[in-house]
Amino acid sequence: MIDIEHVRAETPACEHVLHFNNAGASLMPAPVFDAVQRVLHEENSVGGYEAERRASEDLAAFYTEFAGLLNAEADEIAYVENATRAWDMAFYGLDLRAGDRVITHGSEYASNYLAFLQQSKRRDLCIDIAPSDRFGQIDLEGLERLITPKTKLIAITHVPTQGGLVNPALDVGKVARRHNLLYLLDACQSVGQIDVDVKAIGCDVLSGTGRKFLRGPRGTGFLYVRRKVLQQIDPPFLDLRAAVWTGPHSYELADGARRFENWESFVAGRVGLMAAVRYARQIGLGAIEERVTMLAETLRQSLGVVKGVTVHDLGQKKCGIVTFQKAGVEPSQMAEILRANQINVSVSSLPSARLDLGERGLQSLVRASVHYFNTENEIDRFVRAVDEI
Ligand SMILES: *Cc1c(COP(=O)(O)O)cnc(C)c1O
Repeated sequence: MIDIEHVRAETPACEHVLHFNNAGASLMPAPVFDAVQRVLHEENSVGGYEAERRASEDLAAFYTEFAGLLNAEADEIAYVENATRAWDMAFYGLDLRAGDRVITHGSEYASNYLAFLQQSKRRDLCIDIAPSDRFGQIDLEGLERLITPKTKLIAITHVPTQGGLVNPALDVGKVARRHNLLYLLDACQSVGQIDVDVKAIGCDVLSGTGRKFLRGPRGTGFLYVRRKVLQQIDPPFLDLRAAVWTGPHSYELADGARRFENWESFVAGRVGLMAAVRYARQIGLGAIEERVTMLAETLRQSLGVVKGVTVHDLGQKKCGIVTFQKAGVEPSQMAEILRANQINVSVSSLPSARLDLGERGLQSLVRASVHYFNTENEIDRFVRAVDEI
């Protein structure tokens, strides 16, 4: 059981905002904000390098905390400044050649898909889009049928940015293993709200961000790369943290996933993200997932009975992201009115989800994303506010 009163007390903004924008950027718990502030304060009082030295224990804990969170090894974790660049470090480092095929799904994140488009032009790759099943999630048989001897990679998004869908990542992992394909999972919206275990899922690479359901600071992200596939990814950029300059004509890549990092980084943010992972693990990912699922389901049901509202989430298994429309109200207008009432939501629109929203004939949706510190009382208030608009 989560002590809701306690976690809300440690989230001071709860007092004056109703925050249903946890898929955009969640609210940092006090220990996370304090950790960031402590490092910034030290940078200001003793110097940047000196502050980093003082934070060395926390910086080392970054790797062990993430390893614990994801069921990985500490040297399989890299700090990267956001999820997009983390994903890029893996994707752009793969040895994909003309005629090679990559399988993805309509729920793929826009930035990843832009990288597919760019690389399919540059390297003559073919991008295959696995069909959806009747729930809107990736269809496993359809996926398997797409696999050819030229297929090199399955790259999908666990939870899309634009809806409650949770793709069956574990079953996709089984397909990837069976066909000996590399498996790259964008877990940006799942880590922090769902108990994600890289060994159970069987993904080779996983990327995520700090600010969303992990409740870390902005401008932080991470990458997991399974030891076994390290040799298959040549980092697209090197610097003197990612590699050692061993002679005038030689270098050696750093050990483990560190080769995907770079030297200069947001030290306070790294410490803050470590504190966020520690905080989430103390609460327990199982308890978090259970509460988020329950709150989101309550929100869907309550919204579903409001006149003019349609809920649009796909998926057999759904998460903390709830998307909807109200007849006669533009989603952006709805978000603006809600914001004026200290209620935070986002809007997902076609240019950020062309394959998915395009296929469903949707221009944009209001996205309300709950976290464990939200309450049923807030859901009631939210639904009333939507009803009145
Ligand atoms: C937000 C998001 C990203 C990008 O994360 P950044 O940290 O902003 O780069 C990637 N994938 C999904 C599914 C997202 O929702």
